[in-house]
Amino acid sequence: MAAGRSLEKKYHREEVKDRKDAILRMDKKISDYVRKRDGNKCIRCGNVLNRIDVHHIKRRSIYSLRWDEKNLITLCLNCHEWAQNNKEGYEDFLWLLLETKGIEYLAIKSREYFKTSLTNLLSKEIEIDKLCQE
Ligand SMILES: [Zn+2]
Repeated sequence: MAAGRSLEKKYHREEVKDRKDAILRMDKKISDYVRKRDGNKCIRCGNVLNRIDVHHIKRRSIYSLRWDEKNLITLCLNCHEWAQNNKEGYEDFLWLLLETKGIEYLAIKSREYFKTSLTNLLSKEIEIDKLCQE
């Protein structure tokens, strides 16, 4: 009994680690993809010299959109700060960038539940790999 439980615990620990590793890999892959797609520059001001961040339009904790390229844009450090401190201006910027269709897509997708099981993560990673190869 006790041996069975500790084996279960070991299995659980490994699964948690595998999931964390997958999430880190996927974050890196999609971030590299978006940087390349956006030409390694800030899409708001065109800056290439400043630090360029990959910004999640809908926050990262929403897993149904975390690795969706439509939810990610490059912003330089200045524009990232601007976005965080100028709610109205940022919203106008998003409307111009995404248009109604894009805004609606993110709103709908953000309500979907993505179960972060290892199986789901790995199949999502395959999708990311395909996207990166296009
Ligand atoms: Zn910028």
